[in-house]
Amino acid sequence: MRSLVNSEAVKNEAMSSVVPDVSVVVPVHNEEESLPYLLEAITSSLTACQMSYEIICVDDGSTDGSARFLKEQALNSHDLKVVILRRNYGQTAAMAAGFNYALGKAIVTLDADLQNDPVDIPILLAKLEEGYDLVSGVRQKRQDRAFTRLLPSKIANWLIRKVTGVNIHDYGCSLKVYRAELVADMNLYGELHRFLPALAHIEGARITEVPVRHHARRFGRSKYGIWRTFRVLMDLLTIKFMQKFLTRPMHVFGLLGLISMLWGGAIGIYLTFVKLALGEDIGNRPLLILAVLLLVTGVQLFCFGLLAELLMRTYHESQGRPIYRVREVVGKKVVTGE
Ligand code: UDP
Ligand code: MG
Repeated sequence: MRSLVNSEAVKNEAMSSVVPDVSVVVPVHNEEESLPYLLEAITSSLTACQMSYEIICVDDGSTDGSARFLKEQALNSHDLKVVILRRNYGQTAAMAAGFNYALGKAIVTLDADLQNDPVDIPILLAKLEEGYDLVSGVRQKRQDRAFTRLLPSKIANWLIRKVTGVNIHDYGCSLKVYRAELVADMNLYGELHRFLPALAHIEGARITEVPVRHHARRFGRSKYGIWRTFRVLMDLLTIKFMQKFLTRPMHVFGLLGLISMLWGGAIGIYLTFVKLALGEDIGNRPLLILAVLLLVTGVQLFCFGLLAELLMRTYHESQGRPIYRVREVVGKKVVTGE
């Protein structure tokens, strides 16, 4: 799937034969009123810093006039590319689609609702130039509701920082800039767009953050409610597992399985001793149930670990994903390993 879309991008690249400095990727879901202001603001911000750019708006199954408006604009513009998805897939998928069609050397993401300010894009790009692979915005004076948005967000950011060890203070800020190579290495699923810095960290990226402006929503309403907090917690578990055990699942499942089997075995031996040497009845002892439970769980965890090892190999080998990422290769006679 990915390679198909990429080949599309390659074709487009051959046709235009121009690689812009910057691709701005914007996921759009029912943002009709904001779009005219947004396109104007992005254009004036990037024209001011004299960089070549393209804007990629991904219409994520909007039911208002967003797609129609974007199509009209694209027909009269050289730098606007519009990707219209068949239905609403969610922000992560919309961003992934945008990434696949982006040709720029740097990729900027921001929301379509004017809550992020395109004026900040050059500041983030300048920071990227300093040698970072990902520059994340930190929304200053956030204009969202205190109890349903700001408080959960503060707690979530603290938790994600602690669990992943990636010291970013505003995971939820969409305004971010990525080096294109980094984006090509990351696969997005579910709602993992919130964890992009953590995914980037797994790929060995250099990450930093800068303060950015934030405005209240002028039009429409937010697509998320308080329920996202729970989904974030589940995703955090996935990320932690990927960060630590992606290439060695047996180390976690195997170890747990082994501990469980050892305890089960030890209790089993004790009960056998009680039965055979002391002649006592063990049929009604809770310990017997515990021993059986531990042994069965242990064997299952162990087998699960083995399966996970096979899956992990398929994950890497089927996609040609190496288990390392090279920042640069220096020297004249370097023979590539591939
Ligand atoms: N969005 C999208 N698909 C969705 C939900 C949201 O493309 O299913 C877009 C939306 O149009 C906006 C961005 O993702 O550009 C962020 O959404 P929103 O502003 O509702 O999130 P919030 O700022 O409230 O966290
Ligand atoms: Mg918003």
